[in-house]
Amino acid sequence: SQQLRFRGERVLWLQPASLDQLLELKTQYPNAKMVVGNTEVGIEMKFKNLLYPVILAPAYIPELNTIQHTDEGIVFGASCSLTLLGDVLKAALVKLPSYQTEVFTAVLEQLRWFAGLQIRNVAAIGGNIMTASPISDLNPVFMAAGCKLTLMSKGGERVVVMDEKFFPGYRRTILTPEEVLLCVLIPYTKKGQYFAAYKQSPRREDDISIVTSGMSVTFAEGSTVVKHLALSYGGMAATTVMAKNTASRLLGKQWGEELLQDACSSLAEEMTLHPSAPGGMVTYRRTLTLSLFYKFYLTVQQKLA
Ligand code: FAD
Repeated sequence: SQQLRFRGERVLWLQPASLDQLLELKTQYPNAKMVVGNTEVGIEMKFKNLLYPVILAPAYIPELNTIQHTDEGIVFGASCSLTLLGDVLKAALVKLPSYQTEVFTAVLEQLRWFAGLQIRNVAAIGGNIMTASPISDLNPVFMAAGCKLTLMSKGGERVVVMDEKFFPGYRRTILTPEEVLLCVLIPYTKKGQYFAAYKQSPRREDDISIVTSGMSVTFAEGSTVVKHLALSYGGMAATTVMAKNTASRLLGKQWGEELLQDACSSLAEEMTLHPSAPGGMVTYRRTLTLSLFYKFYLTVQQKLA
């Protein structure tokens, strides 16, 4: 198939037909803006008056739309729509034992309150990650789950775990200008691992979050002693963040009242916000980091019972 090229007065629109062509163009035009669903870029251009003179549209490249089931989890091409993401995860819930699908259930829970159907039908999984919004609903889930991202340029590919280093600053990622996000691996959970995601927004449906989070706990075999804990929050800083101190403080502790107390005092210390932080509602947002953990605590208690 053929590469398409439209030249307007202000914008050059390039639609590569293959992954090789895309990577070649990204080398040639490192500042070109990739556009898939256009639900972020469209807003930036229409309402924030940003101009991207070169647009790269990779929506139809097969590798960016592929879904693969592997031993570790399900790999989604970066251009897969959120509707497709949801459909594939729902199908997996039916087939797999429930201990493996804790993250999938959490992603589905976030998708349920993510925009409206029209947006979900076109918005891509890669677009949500790469926008690097501090209030993304999916990034805290992907971060707490330790999703693996495959990044690719003409020079080769690398796989990175999505942790707090992935977003080095406000609306920035570690990708180089020549790189594109190829795909995202959403992992299966293991026995003894519990996962949940929460979104608090002013209105339940189709609204921007105030605080959003993804939380994962893994217990030492046959016990309720914390072996691994990951708490990720959106809406608490300029990027999606992890409550690392709190997580490490709770290692080795029993899932019970005392842990809950420790978690709350530690989160209150760690998840601070400057009184003038953008978005306001500073006290409410700080309180939410505790209430969402409390919700997670109860959710896990219930699953253990
Ligand atoms: P695009 O606008 O096409 O691209 C977004 C960014 O990603 C661009 O910078 C682009 O260059 C980059 N990009 C895309 N693909 C790649 C790639 N493969 N490699 C490198 N860079 C890439 N977000 C939420 O989190 N929760 C919500 O509830 C929510 N509700 C919304 C409601 C409305 C009405 C609208 C307009 C937006 C909403 N959003 C929400 C934000 C948005 O829909 C999501 O971030 C969406 O996932 C973006 O995907 P897209 O394909 O439309 O991105």
